[in-house]
Amino acid sequence: MSSQSIISQASATSFDERIDEIAEQLAKYKAEGKRIFASSSFQPQSVVLLDIISRIDKSIPVYFLDTNYHFPETIEFRDQLAEQLGINVIDIKSNIPVSEQVDENGEPLYKNQPDRCCHINKVEPIEDVLKEHDVWINGIRKGQSAVRAQMQKEEEGKHGVLRYHPILDWDSKMIFQYINERKLPLHSLVAKGYFSVGCLPCTAKADPTKPLWSDDRSGRWSGQGKTECGLHTTLGK
Ligand code: SF4
Repeated sequence: MSSQSIISQASATSFDERIDEIAEQLAKYKAEGKRIFASSSFQPQSVVLLDIISRIDKSIPVYFLDTNYHFPETIEFRDQLAEQLGINVIDIKSNIPVSEQVDENGEPLYKNQPDRCCHINKVEPIEDVLKEHDVWINGIRKGQSAVRAQMQKEEEGKHGVLRYHPILDWDSKMIFQYINERKLPLHSLVAKGYFSVGCLPCTAKADPTKPLWSDDRSGRWSGQGKTECGLHTTLGK
C-alpha cells in the first residue's frame, strides 16, 4: 500500500469516528424527545455539515436565511445541495420588505447600519425557529473568528434552545480534505476567488496573499469593523 493511500485511509477512519460521535449525539437528543433543526448559509464550507446531516438523518430540517441579498450562485448552490444530498431545506426571511429596509436618507441599511440589517434579516427570522425547537445544529468553527474560538460544542442559547456545534474543532484543512474525500460539489464562487461567502453587498474576494481554502474572513464586511452577523453573539443564553 502506498504512503498516500495509508494517509487517506487514516483520515477517512478519523472522519468516520467523528461522524459516529455526531450520530450518537443526535440519537441521544432524539431519545430525549428533543426537536432538532440545523441552519446553513450555503456558503462553500457549509457543504461539510450538510453532507454529515444527510448521512445521519435527512429528515432534520435545514433552515436557510434568505436575506434577499445573496449571490445568485449561493441560491444555485442551495438548490444543488438540496437535490444532491436529499436534505430538507426550508427558506425563511424577514417580514420587512427590502423596500422598507432603508435609513432616513433612503439608503439600504447594509450600507451604514449593517448590524440593523443583519438583525432584521438573520437574527429575527431565526428567533421564531428557535422557539419551536430544542436543539440548533450549526457549523461554526473555532478558526473562523475570535468570537467562535471561545465557543463550546454545546451551549445554552436563547429561548431555551441548546446550541450544538458538531464541527467546532475542525480546521480548514480538514474541511478541504473532507470535501475532497467525499467528492462534494464546490460553490461556484470559489473558482472566482471567494471562499467565505455571505450576502453580496457585504462580501469581497478572499485575500489573495492567503491560501484560498483557509479560514480567512477578511472579505466579510470589509472595512466596516464588523465580523459577526449576530447569530452567534446575540442568540446565546
Ligand atoms: S450580511 Fe449585509 S446584506 Fe446580509 S443581512 Fe447582514 S448587513 Fe444585510
